[in-house]
Amino acid sequence: MPTTGLIISNISQLVTCKQGFTGCKEDEDSLGFLENACVVIEGEKIVWVGKQSDFKAENYHFSETIDASGCTVLPGFIDSHTHAVFAGSRDDEYEMRISGMPYMEIASKGGGITSTVMAVRKASEENLFTLALDRVNSMVKHGTTTLEIKSGYGLTLEDELKMLRVIKRLDESADIDIVPTFLGAHEFPPEYRERRDSYVDLVIKDMIPAVSEENLAEFCDVFCEEGVFTAEQTRKILMAAKDAGMKLTLHADEFAHSWGAEIAAELGALSASHLGHASREGLEAMKNAGTIAILLPGTGFGLGKVEFANARELMDMGLEVALATDFNPGSSMLHSLPIVTSIACSFMKMTPAEAVRAITLTAAKALAREDEVGSIEPGKQADIVIISSPSYRYVPYFVGGDIVERVIKKGKVIHTA
Ligand SMILES: [Zn+2]
Repeated sequence: MPTTGLIISNISQLVTCKQGFTGCKEDEDSLGFLENACVVIEGEKIVWVGKQSDFKAENYHFSETIDASGCTVLPGFIDSHTHAVFAGSRDDEYEMRISGMPYMEIASKGGGITSTVMAVRKASEENLFTLALDRVNSMVKHGTTTLEIKSGYGLTLEDELKMLRVIKRLDESADIDIVPTFLGAHEFPPEYRERRDSYVDLVIKDMIPAVSEENLAEFCDVFCEEGVFTAEQTRKILMAAKDAGMKLTLHADEFAHSWGAEIAAELGALSASHLGHASREGLEAMKNAGTIAILLPGTGFGLGKVEFANARELMDMGLEVALATDFNPGSSMLHSLPIVTSIACSFMKMTPAEAVRAITLTAAKALAREDEVGSIEPGKQADIVIISSPSYRYVPYFVGGDIVERVIKKGKVIHTA
């Protein structure tokens, strides 16, 4: 008789997000629904999923049962793009941002990313860790069970390594899995503004080898954008990172067409984020290369814009779309994936079904974790969110509602409302 730790029974609506879905059209079946269902967890893994009526209690030995009647059960949410390690605050620029003041003007008043860079450089590793762990614990309450975090506010060899060591410690200490991304090419630090190619050299010759030597990053990211890293600089950095064994992702075409989508496809990046100004050719190339589009509607919302990436067009083209928070102290002080789905449904015209898939299975693919997480299927890690509502639609529909009832990570309940 197999021994089992946990049974979730009498589930009103189970959303498995089972593998095998390829299209992006409104198709509720693609979410893999089961009514009156049951999930059996053994240790860290899911071992059985089915109708309550087919569940044979005598086959299992379980220590805990959760009665999920009236509830919806979904795969744990996955945030595939964040900048959750930072010091300081940018609340003093909030009025400037939402009034539409251009970024360069905010920067000239001492705001912008440079103010965060200065705060991170001054902060100790311990201080950064404590601040970030608090944020991670708060994200768990919104259902996040896997979280990508980028460096990119250090912009010196030592400060980038400091950030990545904090991210590693978070992975070891927090209840959830943290995926580390090296973003040394987030911006040019003030001391290199007049000699940009020297900074690119520093990233390639010093930072990437050191990051790789300490095995501190799974992904490498570059801010490829007009006025930041050019297409040529982006390509050089990403090729060096690829040679060092890192997977690739990009901040691409956020404010202007900057060839980010094209480069993502050319270099086989797993994902590219933002894409509001990507060219049709670039998006086609991404589709053919299997690169996932990570859309970040919290950023437009946080900047008070009415313009969002055209999720509908991307999905109708056949691109796979993930949604993430882009949690950062400047443009997106938002760490709730359910609220991101609300913005995506209202302003990007994604359906609730598409939005749920975009924060589960597709997000897992963007992080190369789809074999372990992102769906509720036997053999997968038991990462599960239970919401106190009868339908998955409540994830976007009840904007900012306290619907997350329980969060389970690797078979262990890590949050109860
Ligand atoms: Zn970002």
